[in-house]
Amino acid sequence: MTTTTVQCVACEWFTLREFPKYAELGLGRCALMVERPGSFVSPNYPRQCRDHEPAPADKTAARIEWLRDLRSEGA
Ligand code: SF4
Repeated sequence: MTTTTVQCVACEWFTLREFPKYAELGLGRCALMVERPGSFVSPNYPRQCRDHEPAPADKTAARIEWLRDLRSEGA
């Protein structure tokens, strides 16, 4: 059994675009959680997830930058 952790922010299944109000709080959706429509995931939480699909590096970087801007606006 592996104990490798991943982050949703670097996953192909993660999206911040679907629910802008939650994205403003720094939370995203996992496209695989279709049966849990009210569940949101933290982008940075070190998660053990079997379904993780690495997103392209530029996509991940764009999300991280967007989330960083969000934090600085809230400061
Ligand atoms: S598949 Fe796993 S790592 Fe990817 S967004 Fe969903 S919960 Fe996060």
